[in-house]
Amino acid sequence: MNEENTVFHKIIRREIPANIVFEDERVIAFRDIQPVSSTHILIVPKKTIRSLDAVTGDDSELIGHIVCIAAELARSEGVSESGYRLVANTGERAGQSVFQLHFHLLGGRPFAWPPG
Ligand code: 5GP
Repeated sequence: MNEENTVFHKIIRREIPANIVFEDERVIAFRDIQPVSSTHILIVPKKTIRSLDAVTGDDSELIGHIVCIAAELARSEGVSESGYRLVANTGERAGQSVFQLHFHLLGGRPFAWPPG
């Protein structure tokens, strides 16, 4: 698939709908269509980056910005005290299915360790 034509690019371009909870010039965050916990938000950079494996030093400010947004969303979702996870599945073997970098913000229930 064209690297700029993932389902998340289509959401960024408003070609398909999503339940958007945050957006600025660099980042969009929306609720996962198949949530695995009561809070399940995807935080996605607008810059095309295939996965965490494609991140470079030029992206450090962007990644820091995303982590700050995740912490803020966790607070606004009311899960910061009960606990949450920020997950970037990287590569098919780790569960990545959409090849545009994204972080899952998961909260609202207990999570086991190690992950499956
Ligand atoms: P991954 O498997 O790549 O780590 O995560 C991709 C996530 O995107 C999955 O949790 C999946 O449910 C979600 N997803 C796939 N297509 C759509 C969509 O069209 N809209 C939304 N909101 N989420 C999607």
